[in-house]
Amino acid sequence: MGFKSIAIDGPAGAGKSTLARQVAAALGYLYVDTGAIYRTLGLAALRHGVDPQDGAAVVALLQGCAIDLRHGGDGVQHMYLDGEDVSEAIRRPEISDYSSKVSAIPEVRSGLMEMQRSLAQQHNVVMDGRDIGTVVLPNADVKIFLTASPEERARRRFEELVQRGTPQPYEEVLRDLKERDAKDTGRAAAPLRRAEGAVEVDTTGCSLEESLERLLTVVRTGVMA
Ligand code: C5P
Repeated sequence: MGFKSIAIDGPAGAGKSTLARQVAAALGYLYVDTGAIYRTLGLAALRHGVDPQDGAAVVALLQGCAIDLRHGGDGVQHMYLDGEDVSEAIRRPEISDYSSKVSAIPEVRSGLMEMQRSLAQQHNVVMDGRDIGTVVLPNADVKIFLTASPEERARRRFEELVQRGTPQPYEEVLRDLKERDAKDTGRAAAPLRRAEGAVEVDTTGCSLEESLERLLTVVRTGVMA
């Protein structure tokens, strides 16, 4: 009790992680990237040759492996799979597809819920994902639904992949992103949608600085009111 939480949900490439991290830094809150948790399980499936759509096999994998989320002294979140720091490995493009598939399995979502909720019970958090305002933290102090057009999101993801040294053609990035949006929005278990009471922020055509300013205004009027 007593801790503040800010939920930021939205489709892939809307700028959630960059902006959520900056909002957290501005407020002195802990930044929690929940997509990284699903990505870690996706990586485990890839490494063990498990079909990410085979519910029983993925649930067995989840029970048999150790997924840990830890924040370093600098506040940066690291993901561990069976003790190995996989924070970089989970960013590979093929893991996006794997994580989206494993995250559609209801038992996976419930199995990974406690890890997310307990962080919000122990810290002031800015948490980003797809179902934070709707399912994980329905009582969050501020809820934001962050969007941008598919083309703009694909362009940002394209540039991010170039910077990471794992470039992919723009058309491919756009196609993958639209497919993942459709999967995340259309699934039965905790689909991506704007939570009740969430403020929608569309960052199409906005610079990072402008987007951050808009988010901070929403947060300050919400949390500090
Ligand atoms: O946010 P990120 O792109 O890293 O998330 C990877 C995948 O994990 C998403 O496509 C989505 O399917 C899933 N996810 C989810 N619920 C969350 C966060 C991510 O289902 N809260």
